[in-house]
Amino acid sequence: MPMSDDFKKRLLPALADIVAHFGTPFHIYDEVGILDTGLSLKNAFSNIAGFMEYYAVKALPNPSIMAIMQKMGFGFDCSSIPELVLSRQLGATGEKIIFTSNNTTNDDFKVALSDGGCILNLDDITLIPKLPATPELICFRYNPGPRRTGNDIIGNPVEAKYGVSHDQILDAYRQMTVLGSARFGLHTMLASNELNYSYIVKTTRMLLQLIEWLSGELNIRFEFINIGGGLGIPYRPEDTPLDLAEMSREIIALFDAYRSKHGYVPKLFMESGRYMTGPHGVLVTKAINQKDIYRKYIGVDACMSALMRPGIYGAYHHIDILDKDPARLPTEKVDIVGSLCENIDKFAVERELPEIETDDILIIHDTGAHGHAMGFNYNAKLRPKELLLRQDGSVELIRREETMADYFATLTFEKNILSR
Ligand SMILES: *Cc1c(COP(=O)(O)O)cnc(C)c1O
Repeated sequence: MPMSDDFKKRLLPALADIVAHFGTPFHIYDEVGILDTGLSLKNAFSNIAGFMEYYAVKALPNPSIMAIMQKMGFGFDCSSIPELVLSRQLGATGEKIIFTSNNTTNDDFKVALSDGGCILNLDDITLIPKLPATPELICFRYNPGPRRTGNDIIGNPVEAKYGVSHDQILDAYRQMTVLGSARFGLHTMLASNELNYSYIVKTTRMLLQLIEWLSGELNIRFEFINIGGGLGIPYRPEDTPLDLAEMSREIIALFDAYRSKHGYVPKLFMESGRYMTGPHGVLVTKAINQKDIYRKYIGVDACMSALMRPGIYGAYHHIDILDKDPARLPTEKVDIVGSLCENIDKFAVERELPEIETDDILIIHDTGAHGHAMGFNYNAKLRPKELLLRQDGSVELIRREETMADYFATLTFEKNILSR
């Protein structure tokens, strides 16, 4: 089930007013839904002491959304300097931030380790001599290579640019012990939008086996394992949601077994983005044109700048038409398109929908993660605003739409010519 019935109940009766007040297009996010999901995640792992979700900032890097995560006690997973700055501006520091970069620059390290620091998650063994200082606590991102198969979005681990290979992982930790690090964590991120909970349980088992081996070889103890993000959400109505209860039950059993064998357990960290916010956002856009050529096209006032996933991954996003029930009305097959000069600028392809008239409001589901954040400015298309439906029913503008002045801002600079 895409957008939840609860979110519909909260949003749909107010939507005409919201559209009239703010104008389309916009993404709107559901505070209650985000809080419910966060609480269910916390409850699912409450039996593991020190469980922590580090919200993957890249999924929805809006301070108002990040503040909701903070209210729940969550940390932030960052992979760029601006994401670090955003997290710190909200008051997060130190071990409330994990910095998981790849192809890391010297500036990345400098900022990551300054200003209260963070948990540094290193992507490669060759980065060790590039560290400006030796952190007391260090983590490596592990890439199991042929030991695991990946999934569609993130790809096969053997072909993935991320992480330290199996052959290098022992040496990586050994080098850090020699340099003086005394606290350790282990990270991996293998799945994306994974609905099969067993895959994530398997990842947990893999990491526990790995720290067992590394701990024995190096006589060190691991404070945490971080199983990454990648928990899936049901984009299609026929998708079965991730079984969080069963997933946590099996992961807790693995932790219990580890404790029985070793007399202690590491903490469990997770860095979900999509699972936390994906279902709790929709893109609201208005039908402005239609054309009937070889296919029927409905032109809307949003385009790929607001949502790239259908265009770049062929991803399915469910679409409702406000006040038009597909079960009761005649439907037709249409492509829902934006205005970009790119034929992949389609929110839906040959989708059976109730007959759409100009000015109808379309609700594109599950845009709460990797939606607005991924939008681009190609063809000088500007990104839409973001709204937040608060717990008390009020609706707040949390990011304005881009303007031409924003688009032209990088054309204002001091003359700079290298004469030769
Ligand atoms: C993107 C990313 C995440 C979040 O992924 P989701 O699929 O949104 O849960 C977590 N960790 C890292 C390192 C990432 O790059």
